[in-house]
Amino acid sequence: SSLPVAILINKSTIAKLKNKFMSAQKPYSFFQSVEKSFDKASKFTKWELGLLEQIKACNSVYQMRFPLKRDDGTIEVIEAYRVQHSQHKSPCKGGIRFSDEVNQDEVMALASLMTYKCAIVNVPFGGGKGGIKINPKKYSTYELEKITRRYTSELVKKNFIGPGIDVPAPDYGTGEREMSWIVDTYSSLKPGEIDAAGCVTGKPISQGGVWGRKEATGLGVFYGIREVCNMPDIMKKQGLEVGIEGKTVVVQGLGNVGYHSAKFFREHGALVIGLAEYEGAIYNAAGLNEEEVFQHRKKTGSILNFPGATNIVNSSEALELACDILIPAALENVINGENAPRIKAKIIGEAANGPCTPEADEVFTQKGILCVPDMYLNAGGVTVSYFEWLKNLSHVRYGRMEKRYDEKINASLIKQIEELSGKKVSHEEREIILHGADEIDLVHSGLEETMISATREIMDTWLNNPEIPDMRTAAYVNAINKVATSYAELGIFP
Ligand code: GLU
Repeated sequence: SSLPVAILINKSTIAKLKNKFMSAQKPYSFFQSVEKSFDKASKFTKWELGLLEQIKACNSVYQMRFPLKRDDGTIEVIEAYRVQHSQHKSPCKGGIRFSDEVNQDEVMALASLMTYKCAIVNVPFGGGKGGIKINPKKYSTYELEKITRRYTSELVKKNFIGPGIDVPAPDYGTGEREMSWIVDTYSSLKPGEIDAAGCVTGKPISQGGVWGRKEATGLGVFYGIREVCNMPDIMKKQGLEVGIEGKTVVVQGLGNVGYHSAKFFREHGALVIGLAEYEGAIYNAAGLNEEEVFQHRKKTGSILNFPGATNIVNSSEALELACDILIPAALENVINGENAPRIKAKIIGEAANGPCTPEADEVFTQKGILCVPDMYLNAGGVTVSYFEWLKNLSHVRYGRMEKRYDEKINASLIKQIEELSGKKVSHEEREIILHGADEIDLVHSGLEETMISATREIMDTWLNNPEIPDMRTAAYVNAINKVATSYAELGIFP
């Protein structure tokens, strides 16, 4: 009979079965999961439904196909996208990714996240994103250059790129090299356009890039988490000590973002006990050095068998390691309803875009795990992209005008202090006080300020409204309010 069976199935078994079922049938796409988080937050705002629907929608989706003549003479059709989610501010902004997994839904989701991300960190751009459905490892450098240049000229043809229209940047699978191909193609198609360098960010310094862009996302992740860890009430709730020092950290992904996040945590006294890549993961309770691991992987082709570390052959198990801070820094949907119940971290810092699904969020709320959301935490990249774009439009390097002037003023201040006090300023202090800011100092300072203010703004919203269930929802509330206000100010409704 069915009665004894019903008694045997307890609450946790039902939860497990439900999670298995939910993850097996993938109830909604990435874009729909962004919409779901948006809807969850919009209840805490005062805006009318029509306006909320407009904010949520992707304004323009450009799907393209173009031919590539491969090195062996065969012809291949390349599938690519650029999505402009919102033009409430111009230009649109967001990276271009090269990955086998690229599809229209993913690019739409990522473009939406860019709108909210920019709003949260007060960067005056709308959201955009691009993607080319290729695995870059399967193409020669020459083929990649041809693909990138053709993609750029397709964007130019449809007016989908330009310093005042839409400004791409690096993302998963792309970097400085691709950005320099883009700026070169754009400039050659737009002769005489004085601001052409501002058509893309994340460029090499020699092509109009800015110092500090490369490490910006990882450094922003660090600044954001450090600010959270400096909040005594929040740390008390998580059962953790205030500060970064001594905290154990696991990082998934050793690409640009993961590498730099790990580096800044380690340099500030945290222990990076686990590092994961797709071929496997490694663990060492005494802490790992990301640069040594990176060199080991480059030499051997795998993260596994790093001297002194324990191998974790199934990479996704690294996410379930006991630690204070877990940093998923690879791709979307890695923590979902199925594995979220096994996560043991006390804080999750979403360095990637969309690593945790809405089901995972529900589990975190139940378990008291603090998830620091992507579209605020990984905004360091676009923040420094904004600085690069400003540099391109102003045609002058940061610090060029004031560096020497500041150094002279500082020198005379030291002289005055020494004369008045009769004491000598130490050599070390003198060096610090004398130094006029270089571009890198100003970029790091602007980034630090941006991440600290955004953290405080989100926490204020969260703590002042006890009904808001999690930090992601609080971040969305702030983003929606900012975007809606600028729509309202624009008076867009005829
Ligand atoms: N691709 C990065 C992101 O997802 C950077 C975007 C940009 O700099 O425009 O935030």
